[in-house]
Amino acid sequence: MDRERLSGYDAVIIGGGCVGTAIAWYLSRYDIRICLVEKESDISEGTTKANSGIVHAGYDPLPGSLKATLNVRGNSLIHQLAQQLSLDFRPNGALVIAFSAEDVRTLEGLLERGRRNGVPGISILSRSEVLSREPNLSPGVQAALFLPTSGIICPFSLAYAFAENARDNGTEIRLREEVLSIQAAEGGFDVRTSRAVIRTRCVVNAAGLYADEVHAMAAGPGFSITPRRGEYVLLDKSEAGIVGSTIFQVPTAAGKGVLVTPTVHGNIMCGPDNIAAGGKDDLSTVGQGLAYVMASAARSVPSLDFRKVITSFAGLRAHPDSGDFIIGMPVPGFIDAAGIESPGLSASPAIGEMAGSMAAEYLGARRRRHVIEERKGIVRPASLPMEERRRLIASDPLYGNIICRCEEVSEGEIVEAIRRGAATLDGVKRRVRAGMGRCQSGFCMPRVMEILSRETGIPMEDICRNGEGSEVII
Ligand SMILES: Cc1cc2nc3c(=O)[nH]c(=O)nc-3n(C[C@H](O)[C@H](O)[C@H](O)COP(=O)(O)OP(=O)(O)OC[C@H]3O[C@@H](n4cnc5c(N)ncnc54)[C@H](O)[C@@H]3O)c2cc1C
Repeated sequence: MDRERLSGYDAVIIGGGCVGTAIAWYLSRYDIRICLVEKESDISEGTTKANSGIVHAGYDPLPGSLKATLNVRGNSLIHQLAQQLSLDFRPNGALVIAFSAEDVRTLEGLLERGRRNGVPGISILSRSEVLSREPNLSPGVQAALFLPTSGIICPFSLAYAFAENARDNGTEIRLREEVLSIQAAEGGFDVRTSRAVIRTRCVVNAAGLYADEVHAMAAGPGFSITPRRGEYVLLDKSEAGIVGSTIFQVPTAAGKGVLVTPTVHGNIMCGPDNIAAGGKDDLSTVGQGLAYVMASAARSVPSLDFRKVITSFAGLRAHPDSGDFIIGMPVPGFIDAAGIESPGLSASPAIGEMAGSMAAEYLGARRRRHVIEERKGIVRPASLPMEERRRLIASDPLYGNIICRCEEVSEGEIVEAIRRGAATLDGVKRRVRAGMGRCQSGFCMPRVMEILSRETGIPMEDICRNGEGSEVII
């Protein structure tokens, strides 16, 4: 097949998760030509779409590791960027709860570790302090590590915000385009994709679960990434308020364990477990795993009502054999941001800074004189005071036509999501929550399909959930 030949790029970023988009966001502050290439039909279709959504404080990673440094820096950047990029973020604080004297000793170790990592405001609360803060916790709780800088975030909104701001500052985003090979070429590399051959001076590998394969394309075999599955249950908004903070149990060798947390949109989420996946696309959920998640969550919050579960899902950790994030330049001009498992979401802006400044330095890039620093989120009429809502509807009646009843999403929001790049049902759902509620899109899906078809010109039979092969009408 003859491919389009494109040249003149300074940097090609591979992968449109929170890491690739954060690198694009940071690098777009420089006066260079950048494109981001993503194999799926939208930004945020990889691990970034399915995780706990916690902006970790940084108590868990080993002091001195990249995970520790970039987690604490990333947490602070997300607090700073929340308003500037209109992030769906809430600093709700977290508690790591102890049930035994041995757990309390572990908390003391975590307190020391957190302090060495530079986590602000970390302390241990007594049993009565914990229960007065979170009365629905198990009466068996003995103490808790308190992490005031921990927060909750909508993970896809973070990637959309980085991508939209990078695009406003000149980054080209190429979707449905898979990188197949990378070859050294005059002045840099030829990145061969499913649609084009892109000549670039520098390549950044942010390919998530596939970062080992992309690394091997440019630098030969280096490390391997194993997928580890984590399953969740999501409870209806009727359960909101059962906990206000994110509740962790004492971590084990398998990770931070099962948490119970509010989400930024008012649901309660429990999970994840940590089990070997059948492959890099194995997003299955199984009864045994979900039963374990619910039993572990009930240990922290016994009154959780699992009859209120509205959906379950799984995410895939990109577990590297090195144990730490892999950020470096193995060959001149080729940069890895690989092995980014948890706390990768929290660390993403700091990874963007680190990998982005490596690329900028390699390219000898200069800062742009004019940078658009702000990105505005999509207006949500349901969250506006009534008078403002009336004014919005008067200026654009589409904001008065409710399409998703569970989440109160208007046609105006859906049209705006499509204008910003949503071309699938999941793309709309993740940007404005149409289909995220109690009925899980049973009511609004046909109506969202009609709007998608009308606005994009895609025939109804070609509208899909999340890319080719997931068409709804057969
Ligand atoms: C169960 C679970 C819970 C987690 N909880 C948290 C948490 O609470 N807090 C936290 O901080 N972190 C958490 N994480 C970790 C966090 O989700 C990840 O670190 C982060 O999402 C990784 O982002 P990424 O951009 O590296 O990868 P991804 O989001 O997977 O993005 C990589 C992208 O590269 C694309 N791609 C791959 N190969 C190619 C190719 N050849 N050509 C073009 N595109 C390609 C993929 O399609 C994908 O979109 C959790 C992870 C899991 C699995």
